[in-house]
Amino acid sequence: MRGPGTRVSCYLCGSEDCTQVHDRIRYGLPPRPYRCGRCGLVFLHPRMDPDEEARFYREEYRTRYAEEPAQASFEASLPEARERVGRFQGLLAKELDILEIGCATGAFLSLAAGQVRSVTGIEVTPGYAAFAQGLGVPVVASLDEVPEGGFDRIFLFHVLEHLQDPIAYLQALRGKLRPGGKLVLEVPNVEDILVSVYRIREHLDFYWEIAHHYYFSRDTLGVVLSRAGYHHEILPHQRYDLSNHIYWMLYGKPGGKGYFSGIFSRELEREYAKCLKDRFLSDTLYAVAEPGE
Ligand SMILES: [Zn+2]
Repeated sequence: MRGPGTRVSCYLCGSEDCTQVHDRIRYGLPPRPYRCGRCGLVFLHPRMDPDEEARFYREEYRTRYAEEPAQASFEASLPEARERVGRFQGLLAKELDILEIGCATGAFLSLAAGQVRSVTGIEVTPGYAAFAQGLGVPVVASLDEVPEGGFDRIFLFHVLEHLQDPIAYLQALRGKLRPGGKLVLEVPNVEDILVSVYRIREHLDFYWEIAHHYYFSRDTLGVVLSRAGYHHEILPHQRYDLSNHIYWMLYGKPGGKGYFSGIFSRELEREYAKCLKDRFLSDTLYAVAEPGE
């Protein structure tokens, strides 16, 4: 870990005018979240260097973030995978080859497979990769193993915030797209109403976590995509419901999704999500991007 005395500087704009925004991250680990006073990027500091990060993922990650068995993980991810196949229906077609980075157990690709020419996944967790292969989804372990210019669509769901150098990675992905190809990515939105407005102590202690180097907003995600050479459209999406938000307020804990579903109507849930999305206070952002000239 670069020492606590090291200067904090922003990955996007280099400014050293950065302010700590909370005094704790999940599990009480050493880094703290900072916001750049010039461009608004939120990031953890100090960052682990590559050796420390490799050691962390090897030795600590699995004990702190217990790896769910593949079958349970697959079943838990199916509802969201179905929602995504629906949301991105217009980007899927019979003549297209698609790639998903971080495909986990292959829920999204196995559902999308019937609507496209081919699916390919990249996944580093061997147990998840093997499970996806068992569903008939071809999986490799790294970007180097897939062909240049091989894909019409590349999907990354909640991957970008884990990367040390997201701009360099997105630049590398340009080479994997065919002419006319599109990149689709989803990240947490740091303007999430829980973080930017409600500011529940227990939620903030949980929200900031060591595996996320960056916390993007509509503006800073736009800068990252532009700097990597993409034209883009960024849209809001809401994953968690009103019950989950009230549960945080009442009990200071996660797990409240659907808790009040016997009381709240679907119209109320839809209207609440719409209020958040209209103001970009939703928990999630997604972008559809195309390489520029
Ligand atoms: Zn900055």
